[in-house]
Amino acid sequence: MTKQRKKKKRNTFIVINILLLIIIGTLVYFLTTDKKEEKNIQANQPVDPLENSLKEETYYIEANLNRYLTYAKDKNLSPSKIIADVNCNLDKEKYKDTIATNLQDNNLMLVNKYYYLTEDYEPDDLITLNAKYNTGINSQMRKEAANAFMEMSDAATLDNIIIKNASAYRTYKYQTTLYNNYVERDGKTAADTYSARPGFSEHQTGLATDINQIDNSFENTDAFKWLQKNAYKYGFILRFPKDKEDITGYQYEPWHYRYVGSKIANQLQKENLTLEEYYAYYIQNKNSN
Ligand SMILES: [Zn+2]
Repeated sequence: MTKQRKKKKRNTFIVINILLLIIIGTLVYFLTTDKKEEKNIQANQPVDPLENSLKEETYYIEANLNRYLTYAKDKNLSPSKIIADVNCNLDKEKYKDTIATNLQDNNLMLVNKYYYLTEDYEPDDLITLNAKYNTGINSQMRKEAANAFMEMSDAATLDNIIIKNASAYRTYKYQTTLYNNYVERDGKTAADTYSARPGFSEHQTGLATDINQIDNSFENTDAFKWLQKNAYKYGFILRFPKDKEDITGYQYEPWHYRYVGSKIANQLQKENLTLEEYYAYYIQNKNSN
């Protein structure tokens, strides 16, 4: 190879390298300026005022933001109502896309029109309430709940109030018969407003009890008034309150109580929360507290 050819080859090599550097430099320049512009566009975009007010709400859950905004469209709802509804899955159809109840939640397990128990679920610590605490045929509860119930009933007795269980644990099979009878009598739409479909009844948890008389007149009794004041101290909550019917998915039931333990019952009472609201915020969205 002559000296000249060697020189020519070296020059070509240098030119190619310079060209490559120019191409890479141009690419880097365009890529970074694109990102900068994108950032500027994002920063200049006005934030939806609703989004801001949602974020100020106590029970706001970041992961639900898009669902809040979609749910709020064409509705005239307050931010707290939007949050309560979506946290409780009201943007979803009842009995559709249902979720298996997490049994590990123990006293706080959620069973409603979105969360279900399987046909074979039966609590392994059921005990039968003593006859003096009982008027009905479904007289079993989970041990801790049963003991709390008897303690509550004893305390009521000291105030001359009678508190007795009329219906506690129900098997899947029992609920099937009950629900089917209601459907036959009133039709499915009506039955769904007051009776749970099999697998979706809280009575299958062994943590629920219908007290004294299963009708709305129970609201006018001294026993009901006593429960309003004292049930939470023993870990029981009025599960389907009057002003939360859309959230629980059930009509007001003054007689239906649910055991959650006294610590949580206290908090629900204080914050005026249903189990649905508590569950969404404090259990599903664990990072929030
Ligand atoms: Zn009930």
